[in-house]
Amino acid sequence: MRGSSPRMTTKNHCNRSYITDMRPQDILLPAAAGLCCKPGGFHIDPVRPVERAVITHGHSDHARPGHGTVLATRETLDMMRLRYGDNFAGSTQAIAYGESIRTGDVTIKFHPAGHVLGSAQIAVSCKGTCIVASGDYKDAPDPTCAPFEVVRCDVFITEATFGLPVFRHGDAADEVKKLLASVALFPERAHLVGAYSLGKAQRVIALLRLAGYDAPIYLHGAMEAITSYYQSRGVALGDLRPARGMKKADLAGTITLAPPSATSDIWTRRFPDPVTAFASGWMRVRARARQRGIELPLVISDHADWDGLTATIEATGAREIWVTHGQEDALVHWCKTKGLAARPLDLVGYGDEDEGDTAPAEGFAS
Ligand SMILES: [Zn+2]
Ligand SMILES: [Zn+2]
Repeated sequence: MRGSSPRMTTKNHCNRSYITDMRPQDILLPAAAGLCCKPGGFHIDPVRPVERAVITHGHSDHARPGHGTVLATRETLDMMRLRYGDNFAGSTQAIAYGESIRTGDVTIKFHPAGHVLGSAQIAVSCKGTCIVASGDYKDAPDPTCAPFEVVRCDVFITEATFGLPVFRHGDAADEVKKLLASVALFPERAHLVGAYSLGKAQRVIALLRLAGYDAPIYLHGAMEAITSYYQSRGVALGDLRPARGMKKADLAGTITLAPPSATSDIWTRRFPDPVTAFASGWMRVRARARQRGIELPLVISDHADWDGLTATIEATGAREIWVTHGQEDALVHWCKTKGLAARPLDLVGYGDEDEGDTAPAEGFAS
């Protein structure tokens, strides 16, 4: 890419070493700009501009513009370019899943996080100690991205967006069946599905196709660019059309996807008697659906639920768990009951794009 900063060199083998194990906090430490790796000279998902950023995925709370260099998957880099323009960073370097890069005393390896297209967990190894920063992740199946991979490690850094036992997402395919049943029941009405523009919208479309729905699906303008990017990366989404310019009567019996904020504004007036749906893990909480005026709540999340978080923590074999954004307390407590060292990281600045909040800022505004 552009820029002349020295590239990190590629190395293909693991770096389990004979040297004394390092203390995890000497490898990664929470700082104002985000998680800082001093021995490697980089930050993970920095919330402020830094010299060298390593980025897990394209959601705007993790992937911000203005860094000197960015190391991320090709898809994450492309999404940042789509969102922020060509000059979003001084220089960029793409890394594939399974690829290792050596920087200073540290080896960085990327693994699929199953969250959105291109999302990665970042394994940071230094002198025999391995820490995995998982970013956002889910262990549930998603036809639009590579499945989550369990990475054995000493310290596992996990989010806790749905870190309470009440959150059990169930099967997303069943939620999509509810949507299709409603479409069949109300052929004279339009169905408006609120879904985050990056990841959730494309997943809902793919699930509709898997359920056998092959009619055109309509899109809010804010979703067109990222959705055609998914298609360009080989994600099959079928016949998609802009909702813009359609006659009101012709939208009866159809499904349109829109950013969550659009489903409650004047934009909806172009649809005949719309049924408003919202695809989010928060829809498990009925009060939240009512509050937003959602007629058809669909519990579909791109974050691990309680069972997913706890099963993943156990599967990593990590003895120490660091918990980032979300409902940290319950998860930290659960870890301790299992004899694991655990603590909240108190990082700020995350959770304001996808499901981190019920009223998120929406990226890709048209
Ligand atoms: Zn995310
Ligand atoms: Zn997040």
